[in-house]
Amino acid sequence: MNKKKDQSVFSTMTKSFMGVSLAAMVMTGAVTSSLATAHDDDFAPAAAVAQDVVLNPQYQSNIEQIKSQPKVQAALQYAQDISDKSLAQLIELTEIPAPPFKEEKRAARYAEMLKEAGADKVWMDEVGNVIALREGTVGAETVAMVAHLDTVFPEGTDVTVREVDGKLYAPGIGDDTRGLVMQLAVLDAIESQGVETEDHVLFIGSVGEEGLGDLRGVKHLFREGGPKIDTFIAVDGGDLSRLVYGGIGSYRYRVTFKGPGGHSWGAFGLANPHHALGRAMRLLAENGPSVTSVGPKSSFSVGRIGGGTSINSIPFESWMEVDMRSGAPARLDAIDAVFKAAMQQALEEENAARQHGPALTVDVDQVGLRPAGLSDPNGSLVQHMMAALKSYGVEPSLAVSSTDSNVPISLGIPAITISRGGKGGRGHAPDEWWQDVDAYKAVQVGLLTLLAETKVAQ
Ligand SMILES: [Zn+2]
Repeated sequence: MNKKKDQSVFSTMTKSFMGVSLAAMVMTGAVTSSLATAHDDDFAPAAAVAQDVVLNPQYQSNIEQIKSQPKVQAALQYAQDISDKSLAQLIELTEIPAPPFKEEKRAARYAEMLKEAGADKVWMDEVGNVIALREGTVGAETVAMVAHLDTVFPEGTDVTVREVDGKLYAPGIGDDTRGLVMQLAVLDAIESQGVETEDHVLFIGSVGEEGLGDLRGVKHLFREGGPKIDTFIAVDGGDLSRLVYGGIGSYRYRVTFKGPGGHSWGAFGLANPHHALGRAMRLLAENGPSVTSVGPKSSFSVGRIGGGTSINSIPFESWMEVDMRSGAPARLDAIDAVFKAAMQQALEEENAARQHGPALTVDVDQVGLRPAGLSDPNGSLVQHMMAALKSYGVEPSLAVSSTDSNVPISLGIPAITISRGGKGGRGHAPDEWWQDVDAYKAVQVGLLTLLAETKVAQ
């Protein structure tokens, strides 16, 4: 479903690159190389392609001009001074579990914290996103800063924060609890130092970014009749230099083979759903590389399998969850076709091998769809972020990934994903860690970018 729409989005994006500049042409090649190394692991080194994008001096001078204003200087200093407060907030929020589809408790506390930091108005929408408004002096446009509330960890996971050798260990502490805290620091800094912006700012804690959440929080924000958002900055990256300006698309399926089931001895000869699933996985693993070994990076993975009642029963169902990705919609469709053919062939093979009983059936349900696309690297948002990084001596590295930004990017709304600061690793693993190594720098860079996009009121 919606494949056509995705394709047209991508071709629109591709067209926007055509006839621009030589730099943009080089970029297109560079995008391919960054696709080849993009991971979900936010701390993976991104391909350094930024040197191929020309930084427009006008954006650089905007940033320098903003940075030189006394109130902004005070806010940037404040962002550094509140590191201890941020650390306490990080520990508190991390220890409030936020499993997929169960973000309410953390959301409620985050809403309070946004209020304490000085938001003009805080509310929760129908799906559980926490939204805080800081009013601009003019309010012609609205810039949203977004970090996700949910973690990948199931209910019951121990989320106690432990410190070992200066590193803080806890599931979800970096991804993306630190992103939530960074937003608090940005709001706190401008509020405490009286920095006013012309445009409105929305600070948002989104639900459902991870896994089967399928970006449901941000999809809801961009629904018909949703809040007006003109520019979107997600805070969900590891390395400070990493500037995500494009979205990796994904298709996700739950596949279920079904049959009558029966006794492993007494009913032997029935078609066996697990055997069909085994065939399906073999075919996908064998045929998938015909797509994934060529062209821009694409991927496929069987993430979870299950079903069956006991060791001595032929199961009545067998299921798996499959994730396929690419930054190029055509690649995504190609691996999708291989996957669907494999499911059909597996069904036929297993049914042909049965000695008696009814044929198995297979349900292939799409459980996720993330659109792909690219933000304009010559637009003000990407350029301001690059200039902000450079103003602190950091060489930006442009990358593509799969984040909340996918949704606005696919709608043609300028969107990037920026660093949450500090150092970390083992995201999505129980031994995830985060360390406050100059984490304030990400706050400063994010703050400058936000002020450039919202225009500081004089
Ligand atoms: Zn994340």
